[in-house]
Amino acid sequence: MNLDQVKKSIRNIPDYPKPGIHFKDVSTAYQNSEVFNYVADAIYERYKDFGITKVVGIESRGFILGGVLSNKLNAGFIPVRKPGKLPAKTYSQSYQLEYGIDTLEIHQDALESDDVVLIHDDLLATGGTVSAAIDLVGRFNVSKIYANFFIELDFLHGIQKINKSVPVWSLIHF
Ligand code: AMP
Repeated sequence: MNLDQVKKSIRNIPDYPKPGIHFKDVSTAYQNSEVFNYVADAIYERYKDFGITKVVGIESRGFILGGVLSNKLNAGFIPVRKPGKLPAKTYSQSYQLEYGIDTLEIHQDALESDDVVLIHDDLLATGGTVSAAIDLVGRFNVSKIYANFFIELDFLHGIQKINKSVPVWSLIHF
């Protein structure tokens, strides 16, 4: 297994969910156990010595590898979810989409100031989603925040939108 094979395992769906968007379907990568294990191992290898205490996964595709990574890193898993999904008290953060506005939430007791946090999502596009997640995690004054993606769409320059204090690393670039 190598990164080229991983790249080829990701299905491209033109004009989904709307015209002009080329959707990267990670389900075809994750359904192959060799690819899935390789990807999880590669991201784990990158972060294994960073002292990560919590992995924050972004709903919903960020839960898949996020759960595996938290287990491998011996860290807790924290879900960041769409509004109204988390049952206890939450912090909310709204962010701009291409058309309209969206909101993410985190439980108010999810993190402590001594946590070292790895935020994970499947894909970095324009950077709005992860920036909202960084704002949420930032409310806890944690000691460090890292952000990781399985896939980064370089041509959208989402990385430029992300707070410079947050080191970003993606396994695959398109
Ligand atoms: P953004 O906020 O623009 O960085 O968008 C990132 C979020 O939207 C991630 O949670 C992705 O799962 C999803 N997303 C955005 N663009 C795509 C795409 N081309 N293919 C698959 N997922 C995408």
